[in-house]
Amino acid sequence: MDFDVIIIGAGPGGIFAAYELVQKRPELRIAVFEAGQPLEKRHCPIDGEKITACIGCKHCSIMSGFGGAGAFSDGKYNITNDFGGTLHEYIGKREALALMRYVDDINLRFGGENTRLYSTAGTKFKKLCIQNDLHLLEASVRHLGTDVNYVVLGNLFTYLKDKVTFFFDSHVDSVKAADEGFEVVCGQNAYSCRRCVASVGRSGSKWMEAVCRENGIETRSNRVDLGVRVELPAEVFSHLTDELYESKIVYRTQKYGDMVRTFCMNPRGAVVNENTNGIVTVNGHSYEDPARQTENTNFALLVSKHFSEPFRDSNGYGESIARLSNMLGGGVMVQRFGDLIRGQRSTPRRIEESFTVPTLKATPGDLSLVLPKRILDGIIEMIYALDKIAPGTANDDTLLYGVEVKFYNMEVAVNERLETRLPGLYVIGDGSGITHSLSHASASGVFVARDICASI
Ligand SMILES: Cc1cc2nc3c(=O)[nH]c(=O)nc-3n(C[C@H](O)[C@H](O)[C@H](O)COP(=O)(O)OP(=O)(O)OC[C@H]3O[C@@H](n4cnc5c(N)ncnc54)[C@H](O)[C@@H]3O)c2cc1C
Repeated sequence: MDFDVIIIGAGPGGIFAAYELVQKRPELRIAVFEAGQPLEKRHCPIDGEKITACIGCKHCSIMSGFGGAGAFSDGKYNITNDFGGTLHEYIGKREALALMRYVDDINLRFGGENTRLYSTAGTKFKKLCIQNDLHLLEASVRHLGTDVNYVVLGNLFTYLKDKVTFFFDSHVDSVKAADEGFEVVCGQNAYSCRRCVASVGRSGSKWMEAVCRENGIETRSNRVDLGVRVELPAEVFSHLTDELYESKIVYRTQKYGDMVRTFCMNPRGAVVNENTNGIVTVNGHSYEDPARQTENTNFALLVSKHFSEPFRDSNGYGESIARLSNMLGGGVMVQRFGDLIRGQRSTPRRIEESFTVPTLKATPGDLSLVLPKRILDGIIEMIYALDKIAPGTANDDTLLYGVEVKFYNMEVAVNERLETRLPGLYVIGDGSGITHSLSHASASGVFVARDICASI
């Protein structure tokens, strides 16, 4: 065997699996294959001046490379079973929370020691939300911030690089069962291992589906979340963000009974582009360093769409809508809430005159030409509901960027040890469809590493 364990993907799932294996069994030969670049070589060419739009790099530096999709994220580690994935359904609620706390301790030891842990426990906002038919989900959130998150990843790499064999710019083509283990093919080379952990995240979703098909592993159709990113003056939400940092608030619309939720709140942050398989959507992040903060807060408002048979391609549905917005706007589109309500497109002049200054250069346009009516109606209803607990949310100058899409991977059939029908082949993190967050993906990595240590 070339290696005892091969991990595919160096996102949080893969990194924490490698870390735990090194901790528990330093004698094991461990390799990590990563399609993208090492952390210091990850640069998105969009500089806002010479290059303003995605040029379709071979591997998107935002989504791929050491640190995975989380490398330039806001670094919000939510310690909760209420959202961020369904890991607890496999390994139990108590174990899932314990692993998320374990990951938090590691992050603190590797550079996050001065960051703050926010919590919804005992907050007065729970009552305020319920009084307005809004529902605040429970969580503790460690906010590393984009800058500290980068430092933590750098320190983890320094710690791991001499103990683990890293292959960067190495997209794994296939995984097949072989004698007492697996054969992992990468370009011209094939490597053998006793255990294999696939942690390929969102960007590896199509690859994961192919591997499952080839190896007779079942997958289940999942959901897609569609919506917009809201940007408004930080003061509007400061009473919530100062205490909770991020508030996950859910609302059931009166018109259709759909669930709309806030997602990924970035106080004093910036709105950014995200590229998934060549489709440009919107996201947001914020820095811990006050010098890099902005005047605005941003968050997503998302509506979940679940499809039933015969339609299985929920991601394809989300992609088509994102493509439509790219077609009309050449990328991400922005519209003032007042313009949307009056049924008029936002023009460059209207955006320039807006009191809320956009943090992302996006094309002024009309989101009602892009988003399905049902989804747009839900978002508008939620904005008015939020206006009751954070007055100013429904101001004319609140900016809406579209579209924000949260793609979910197909859920891969694994047992309670996150192992597929092929003994020794594990699927973890967002690539499994089970986790959708930094904390859950990382926790799944630790969990599987411990299982491997016990069985190898
Ligand atoms: C802009 C942004 C902000 C975010 N902010 C937050 C946040 O604040 N809090 C939060 O909880 N979550 C956040 N997320 C989501 C979070 O980043 C993911 O949930 C998390 O990174 C999932 O970890 P993972 O290890 O499962 O997958 P990923 O981080 O996606 O890593 C998978 C890795 O596998 C590699 N890979 C894929 N296929 C192959 C292959 N065939 N061969 C070799 N390598 C392969 C990829 O290049 C990638 O590096 C954010 C995401 C983005 C894009």
